[in-house]
Amino acid sequence: VKSIETTRVVIVGAGMSGLCMAMMLRQQGINDFLMLEKSGDVGGTWYENRYPGSQCDVQSHLYAFSFAPNPNWSRRYAGSGEIQGYLKDLTEQFGLPDKLRLNTRVTSARFDETNKHWVVLTSEGQEIHAQALALSQAPLHTAKWPDIDGIETFAGRRMHTALWPADASFAGKRAGVIGNGASAVQLIPPVAEQAGHLTVFQRSANWVLPRGDRAFSAWERKLLAVSPIAKAYRWWLAGLYESNRLGFVPDSFAGRLGRKRALSHLAKRVADPELRTRLTPDYPVGCKRILVTDEYYPTLQKDHVTLETRGIKRIEPTGVRLTDDTLVELDDLICATGFDITGSVASVEISGLGGQLLADSQRDKPQAMHGMTVPGFPNLFLLLGPNTATGHTSTLLYIEAQVSYIIQCLAELDRRGQKAMTVSPDVFRAHNADLQARLKQSVWGASCTSWYKTDDGHNGTIYPGFTPQYRAAVKRPDFTQFDFL
Ligand code: NAP
Repeated sequence: VKSIETTRVVIVGAGMSGLCMAMMLRQQGINDFLMLEKSGDVGGTWYENRYPGSQCDVQSHLYAFSFAPNPNWSRRYAGSGEIQGYLKDLTEQFGLPDKLRLNTRVTSARFDETNKHWVVLTSEGQEIHAQALALSQAPLHTAKWPDIDGIETFAGRRMHTALWPADASFAGKRAGVIGNGASAVQLIPPVAEQAGHLTVFQRSANWVLPRGDRAFSAWERKLLAVSPIAKAYRWWLAGLYESNRLGFVPDSFAGRLGRKRALSHLAKRVADPELRTRLTPDYPVGCKRILVTDEYYPTLQKDHVTLETRGIKRIEPTGVRLTDDTLVELDDLICATGFDITGSVASVEISGLGGQLLADSQRDKPQAMHGMTVPGFPNLFLLLGPNTATGHTSTLLYIEAQVSYIIQCLAELDRRGQKAMTVSPDVFRAHNADLQARLKQSVWGASCTSWYKTDDGHNGTIYPGFTPQYRAAVKRPDFTQFDFL
């Protein structure tokens, strides 16, 4: 250990949620905090996901903090670079650079039961003592390679959307993309622009809705710089997105409408009935993440693009061997195969009361109270933790509500003159049993595989309700649900 220092809050990660925590602490006049970020810059997922075409499929004016509107978004759906720029500007605006330690990985964090504080060790040899620890390593963070035999034998260039090399060019190459999820459908059109031939390996079809992206005109940007107009627009967007949640109710009118909309989008964009059949999912809309794109279907119909649905047997040095033994020869293999959800928590050794490890409690069944607290881990707060993801709206609506909840917890500790609080195990168990029961009855209980669920069907990802329900539930912490230490 090179140095020992003390602060009130350590925030792990400087992505959307970590930065939100830092900004809202500043707003409350709490300046005693540090933000530790393993990468060389802020931005989190927007820093890491630099594949061509990376953008947010939630409209930018809703994918911005309510307290930091940005009238300058260039288009409805901003690209990752523009979002990253917004976050960098906010970092400066809120005076965060002196609170931020970049290229600093948290290696472990231990709750010291005698002193009732966290002892955080970093890759840079620092030991930091903090009353509270806010973990903002969202689940979409550790690249997941597909579990396909022979993947390591591929002799060409092997890439992953979340580990994108700075200088990737596909000019004239035979490229293959494994996966057709949210990352893949953004990446495939720009790669197809360059590649000599592109093969998309689809294991299961996804529901796709039209996007309707366009640039904002100069006068629209001027209008959106007027605060009441910007607020009204954001409210309108939030309402519009929330109404989509109605479609996730099984056998509902809105659900049927959503399915009709997706099928009509497919029919309009794909002329060949055989291709349409292969692109039609066999599970209800919303069970897996709905994709929002206008470019994906047209790209698949280009002469030099092939949608391959025969299934992958193994990967060989020269390409992908299909289940019928055909070899698809490739120069570049792109894995758009998503993220290791539980690996994210396991990447840091976090030990709570009695030395119990957070990774052990989260590995098979990620769960938390309101997605934020876990029994046995006093003053540990997860941001965008278990069951706080949504398939229908901006995650920022959840992040802001969580940060406000955490700040109220810190204030309550001060008010009571106590050092630490931990959620009661009974409350935690009842809360999670209720969440799982609600999820089973929802569209996510239907039969489909996705990163939302672990292999045994536990859904530790999705919040089963409407956004206002979550926000109301966490608006004022119920302190009777906690034990104070
Ligand atoms: P993902 O949704 O987990 O998709 C992974 C894809 O890889 C799926 O198509 C999957 O097929 C396929 N795959 C995985 N292993 C495979 C294997 N062994 N063989 C064949 N295919 C395999 O990952 P993602 O697209 O990176 O997206 C993850 C999440 O990130 C999204 O759901 C979303 O929440 C977020 N995201 C958001 C945006 C945005 O614009 N807001 C953009 C990108 C990502 P199966 O479907 O058959 O499993």
